[in-house]
Formats: sequence, C-alpha cells, structure tokens
Amino acid sequence: MAIAIGLLLGGKFRLVDGVVEIHGKRVAGVLQRLYVPAMAITIGHVVLGQTQAALDITRKHERVHVRQYERWGIAFVPAYLLASVYLYLRGRDGYRDNPFEVEAYSVDDPGRR
Ligand SMILES: [Zn+2]
Repeated sequence: MAIAIGLLLGGKFRLVDGVVEIHGKRVAGVLQRLYVPAMAITIGHVVLGQTQAALDITRKHERVHVRQYERWGIAFVPAYLLASVYLYLRGRDGYRDNPFEVEAYSVDDPGRR
C-alpha cells in the first residue's frame, strides 16, 4: 500500500536495512498536510519521508514503528488510531501520549538534538 502511494507520488526509493524508504517533493506535500505534520511516517516496512535528510534524522525513531508493526501486524494501524482517539477524547495529546509514540520517542526523539 505504502509502496503504491510512493509510486503515485513519484518518490525516490531506497532500501535501507530491509526497509523501503521513499522521499520526494509530492511525498513531502502529503506529509505536511497530515493532521500532525510529519517529517516521516512508517507504514509496515515502508517509511515515507519529506526529504532524504528527514529520513536520516528520523530513521531510529521510525524503525521502532517498523518493529511495532511486526508485533501488531495488520492490527497496528487500527490500534494506533484507537489509542489516539481514546487519548484525544480524554483531553490528552493523541500523538505524544500515544503509547506507540512514547516507545518510539523513548528510543529516539528526532526533534531534540
Ligand atoms: Zn513516531
């Protein structure tokens, strides 16, 4: 699925440690318009990034999401979104308080370097 998105958006592909990394101008356009604008996003074993630099900076963080996806399988995206909605409804931050993000940020916080 993410591969198809990358192809549709005309991104540049690279294989890094068994993970497909895709970046490009139109990929960046989509990531900037997300509810929480992202430097990069992981979908399974594919990481979409705004630029090559963004992929480099976020690699350690995004790899945690790849491992989470390996543990959760197809339940990963629904579980992630449900956690976000649940937190949001309780007045918390659906992104930063999301347990999947808490784990990834505990390994590497690309914004704090
Ligand atoms: Zn994350």
